[in-house]
Amino acid sequence: MRVVVLTGAGISAESGVPTFRDAGGLWEGHRVEDVATPEAFHRDPATVQRFYDDRRRAVASVEPNAAHLALARLEASLGDDLLVVTQNIDDLHERAGSERVVHMHGRLDSALCESCGERSPVVGDLGDRPACPACGRAALRPDVVWFGELPYELDRIDLALAACDRFVAVGTSGAVHPAAGFVLTAAGFGAVTLEINLVESEVSLLFDEVRLGLASMLVPAWVDEVLAAA
Ligand code: NAD
Repeated sequence: MRVVVLTGAGISAESGVPTFRDAGGLWEGHRVEDVATPEAFHRDPATVQRFYDDRRRAVASVEPNAAHLALARLEASLGDDLLVVTQNIDDLHERAGSERVVHMHGRLDSALCESCGERSPVVGDLGDRPACPACGRAALRPDVVWFGELPYELDRIDLALAACDRFVAVGTSGAVHPAAGFVLTAAGFGAVTLEINLVESEVSLLFDEVRLGLASMLVPAWVDEVLAAA
């Protein structure tokens, strides 16, 4: 059985990483237009770098929760038949033990050089304007996908969606595209679809089944079901 799990900020909420929409459309008190667009970065790079430096520090101080751990347990059993596609820029899936993870919106712990295009691990704060290890220029930006930019690895995601038997979305508001449309792609190719969220999302009606509650409770329970049926 092939499974694709799409995760959003809700799966990391119980680890202590605030979600985005729950705070009235603000991300840690900031308007998205001020911190998560290429225009904001070019207008005020110091503010945007500080925002992501703060997020990176905050994520380093929290731990994966039972939902991340359950998905790692599922991968240990399904191997290549499970792909986790996350919109999150934190590394909590990896720290829980997942290895097959696509970060479609990039990662906080990676830097992208605006000059040479190389990626490198973030060392210290990008707000301190460190040099790119590849070209030596101080042109590093967070390796995250901002609004108006194309998400990463969409071809790989499309192939996985077309081939999966089950598609599950966990803790995502269904407000950010193209991720919000993945359920339609998977269902169109015959997958059974399940949404797990605290409350109904903007796309709940598109799923075969919706389970409402905490990801830390519902994801482990769902993984137990899948493993029992396998
Ligand atoms: P979102 O903030 O728009 O929505 C979060 C969703 O999670 C909501 O539908 C909410 O009902 C649900 N939720 C909250 N707590 C939950 C819980 N304990 N169990 C189950 N569901 C819960 O998140 P999004 O849809 O991922 O879109 C936000 C964008 O902002 C993403 O593109 C992401 O890159 C970015 N973001 C990332 C992080 C992170 O990396 N952890 C955090 C905030 C925002």
